[in-house]
Amino acid sequence: MVSNISILGSTGSIGTQALQVCDKHNIKVSALTANTNTALLEAQVRKYKPKLAVMTDENCARKLKLLLSDTDTKVLCGMEGLCQAAATDEAEITLNALVGMVGLRPTLTAINAGKNIALANKETLVAGGELVTKAVKENNVKLLPVDSEHSAIFQCLEGCYQKKDIKKLILTASGGPFFGKTYEELINASPSDALKHPNWSMGQKITIDSATMMNKGLEIIEARWLFDVPSDMIDVVVHRESIIHSMIQYSDNSVIAQLGLPDMRIPIQYALTYPERYESPVSELDLADIAKLTFYKPDEKTFRCMAVCKDALKKGGLAPAFANGANEVANLMYRQGKIKFHDIATLVQEAVNAAPKAPAGSLQDVLDADASARELVTKLVNNE
Ligand code: NAD
Ligand code: MG
Repeated sequence: MVSNISILGSTGSIGTQALQVCDKHNIKVSALTANTNTALLEAQVRKYKPKLAVMTDENCARKLKLLLSDTDTKVLCGMEGLCQAAATDEAEITLNALVGMVGLRPTLTAINAGKNIALANKETLVAGGELVTKAVKENNVKLLPVDSEHSAIFQCLEGCYQKKDIKKLILTASGGPFFGKTYEELINASPSDALKHPNWSMGQKITIDSATMMNKGLEIIEARWLFDVPSDMIDVVVHRESIIHSMIQYSDNSVIAQLGLPDMRIPIQYALTYPERYESPVSELDLADIAKLTFYKPDEKTFRCMAVCKDALKKGGLAPAFANGANEVANLMYRQGKIKFHDIATLVQEAVNAAPKAPAGSLQDVLDADASARELVTKLVNNE
């Protein structure tokens, strides 16, 4: 188990649950970061006494510095601060629990500083998968999945004798709040209904991604990079109860699954204790109590984002960065009431169509692709 961690995005859903895991196992914290939640970051700093606290927003950072003037914690701001937090001397591992592309540079900084990474921030692996996995190899560090499906696959892989025995990765999807609805029924689906996830309590961005099933599309791309398998070896099955977190089908058609209650503290903890296991803050799974597990084919006609992501993955190069960047903007615009539910998939598809056939060779290439996709979506929505 790690003894010291740096947590990027400590005020979020994953960040706060990671701190509960730290509480349970007395893991020390060397850096904490937040975007704008000054009050919660102040409380976290007073409790965990990290060396460094970072707020992306400059005004918030100034305020936090005043609030923490009686402590030994240094306060920084912006991307520069995030990158310093990603690579503190003391941390054995950096948990990236940021949401969105803002996490790419900090992840690369941490890897280049020789830190192992626990990665929740899937958007950056979707957009910069090639860069990140190359940096991981070059620096000989570990990239440990936090996303529950990928943690499940990672755990199921432990019984894998040789990679060629893997026939398929089977990602499970809850189906989100709109499972079973028709395309027509979702034309006017409201953000407040989309934010009511049946099984998981998560940040707003990923909750909307679950409603559109963009989340599963992002996870297919995430799996491609984490486990180095081609897209046609990654299947998705809708499993409403979110008890089976994902599976591997081996060449003999034996399927190995990982199960547990839908609680992110299990995958978060496993990333921090790997390869060991410890008692966790999560309750035991009582299958008789759950009684029934159900499975369905995903409805890719109503929820088009998944197919668009597969398209982007096939196209390769910068296309996934375009898909992700477009989705980040469209997801926010939908929450702000500026576009309708199905517009999200349409806009992501437009961005994938517009992506040049070019490799994601450098950080700048990926950041530029992300910026182009955001610009395209903004123009399309504003009819410019
Ligand atoms: P969240 O919105 O609850 O928290 C995000 C964190 O990032 C917060 O601490 C916030 O202050 C910080 N942040 C947001 N925007 C920022 C910016 N521009 N600059 C700097 N910091 C910023 O999100 P979350 O649900 O915890 O998700 C975090 C990541 O984990 C996402 O990539 C998500 O897809 C992934 N994930 C989350 C869950 C979950 O259960 N919440 C499950 C699987 C994967
Ligand atoms: Mg997931």
